[in-house]
Amino acid sequence: MKVYGLQMVSWGAIPVKVILINEIKILDESEVKRKLEELKSQIEQCKKCPLHKERTNIVFGRGDEHAQVMFIGEAPGAEEDKTGEPFVGRAGKILELFLKQNDITGYYISNIVKCRPPKNRVPYGNEVKACLTYLNKQIEIINPKFIVILGNTALKYMLNRWNISLWNGKVERKGERFYFMLLHPASAVHDPRNYPNLKEGFATLAKLLKEKKVIIMRS
Ligand code: SF4
Repeated sequence: MKVYGLQMVSWGAIPVKVILINEIKILDESEVKRKLEELKSQIEQCKKCPLHKERTNIVFGRGDEHAQVMFIGEAPGAEEDKTGEPFVGRAGKILELFLKQNDITGYYISNIVKCRPPKNRVPYGNEVKACLTYLNKQIEIINPKFIVILGNTALKYMLNRWNISLWNGKVERKGERFYFMLLHPASAVHDPRNYPNLKEGFATLAKLLKEKKVIIMRS
């Protein structure tokens, strides 16, 4: 598997940082598969928080296990609980549409929590606290260069920030990874006025992935 290193470039007086991303090393693909299967089996037995009581299936994640981009949503909904797959309901259809429109392939998708909260409520802090170790492990194994934060819950627990509307389409570097912030696709289901912002956010993400070049405003 390929992962990416960083090279920094400055543009004189222009107040931006441009970071170019280059391939630097190979990871063992069979080892990634084995570790993910091991983690999934562990989660299938999990009773660390009350969400296990009403789940039909855990929703682990799907996609390219060697992806350079990983999408992180909030929690499984009814369809996801039924099928054990993330983003297969209405929000999933919007996500797939934008991915297709922008020719984004080779990605992985998961959620902050692996079991469905009752009536699709936002997961409570104690539930996220109990579950986040699984997601962190999953990220460590897949080792994506880009993490796409989908919505407020992922924003809060991955970057300790609030109000995704303020951050939509922006990118942040944390350690070796880049965090790209986007409205949750479900926001377009609840309010069609979010659709243009989502569209613009996905177009920016596609450009960044294509050019392997990240521009961050200097603070
Ligand atoms: S949500 Fe996470 S911590 Fe809670 S029971 Fe499910 S897998 Fe375990």
